[in-house]
Amino acid sequence: MNRTVVGNAENRLMILRKISPLYPWGYAHLHTMDSYEVLVADTVRRADPLGRCNTCLKAPPAGARLMKCGACSAAFYCSTQCQKAHWPRHKSTCRANTAQDPASVARYGYTSFATFSRDFQDFLDAHEWALRMIVSVQRQLQRDANPDVPFSELPMLLRVAMRCRTTSSDTQKHRSPATRFAVVSQTFHDLEAYARTQEHLWEQNAPVRDEIHRAFAQQLPHYTGQLFAVHYDVPAGMDHLAFFPVQTPLEPAPGTPEQRRAILEDMLDFCTRSINDGFPLRITTLEGNRFPESLLAYPGTFVRSEGCWVWKAILEDWKSYTPGQHRRLDLAVAGVKTRLAIPDLILSSLHITCAVSTLIVQDAFARRRIPISS
Ligand SMILES: [Zn+2]
Ligand SMILES: [Zn+2]
Repeated sequence: MNRTVVGNAENRLMILRKISPLYPWGYAHLHTMDSYEVLVADTVRRADPLGRCNTCLKAPPAGARLMKCGACSAAFYCSTQCQKAHWPRHKSTCRANTAQDPASVARYGYTSFATFSRDFQDFLDAHEWALRMIVSVQRQLQRDANPDVPFSELPMLLRVAMRCRTTSSDTQKHRSPATRFAVVSQTFHDLEAYARTQEHLWEQNAPVRDEIHRAFAQQLPHYTGQLFAVHYDVPAGMDHLAFFPVQTPLEPAPGTPEQRRAILEDMLDFCTRSINDGFPLRITTLEGNRFPESLLAYPGTFVRSEGCWVWKAILEDWKSYTPGQHRRLDLAVAGVKTRLAIPDLILSSLHITCAVSTLIVQDAFARRRIPISS
C-alpha cells in the first residue's frame, strides 16, 4: 500500500489528548483523511483500562492508585495539576454528585451516587466505539429518511435511554462496569426545544460547549461549527451530554438509500447488542497501521487485572472467528440480515457514514469484494 494516510501519529495523538479531556466520551464524526488520522491515534487509548485520570486519561502505573475528588469521590486524578485543570469542567458535575441522595441509587446496589456516576462513566468508556458508531449510523439513517431536508435542519439531538442492570442484591464486585447498564431506546429530538425544557442543564453546560466548539474549530478543517448532541438518560436522575462535531462530507455517501439502510440497520443492531450482550467492541492495535485491520473493532470482555478493569479480546482476528466462543456474539453475528461478514459490515458502515474516504476503502479492499461502493 503506497498511500500514506496516517501521517504523524505523535502529532495526532497530541491533538487527541487535547480534545479528549473536553470530550471524554465523544468523538469526531469523521469525514476527512485528516480526522481519520485522529481515529487511528484514538485507538491507543482503547487498550487502556477503565478508571483512568479524568483529565489526561492515563491509567495509574501498576500498583499505584489515582487520587479521588475530595468532594464527590466520583472523579479520579493522577496528580493535583490534573485535578486543578479539570475543576472548571468538573464543578457542575461535582455539585450534582454531592447533591444526590444515596437512596436514589440503593435499588441498584449502590451506597453512593458518586460510585454510580463513576461506573456510568466507565460504562460509556467501555463502549465508546459502539456508542459513537451508533451516532454516525443514526445520523446517516435520519439523513436518508429525509432526503429533502437539508442536513443542517435535521434534529440535532439523539436521546439514548439507558437502564441500570444491577439490583439491590447485586454484590457488584464481580461485575465489570461494561455490563452494568443497557441501552433501551434511541430517539431524535429537536435541540432547541430540548434546550428550552432543560434550561438549567443547558445553561450550566454552556462553557463546556464553548470549549468543545473552540477545540473542533481549531482542529477539524471541515467542521461546520454545529455540534450534534447526545443526551444519555440514566436512572436515578443522572444526565449525561456528549457532543459530536458536524463536518462537511467530502464525498457523497456511496450506494443507494436502500443499500445503505440495510447495512446501517445491521450495524446499529450489532453495536447495540455489543453493548447490551456483553461483548464491548474496541480497536485493538496500532501495530504497523495495517489496513483494513486497524479500522476494525473486535469483541472483548473486561476482566479484573491488578486492580483495574482491562479489556481482553474474545477474538484476535475476525478471520479466526468460529461460533462457539461467546454465545451472544454468535447470535449477533447470525442476526446480520445482509449476511455480510463483520469486517465488511464495519468497513461499509464507516464508508457510508463518510468516516473513511472511498480511497481508503478501495485500498483496504484491493483484493476483496467491496460490499458497497460509489
Ligand atoms: Zn492526569
Ligand atoms: Zn468532584
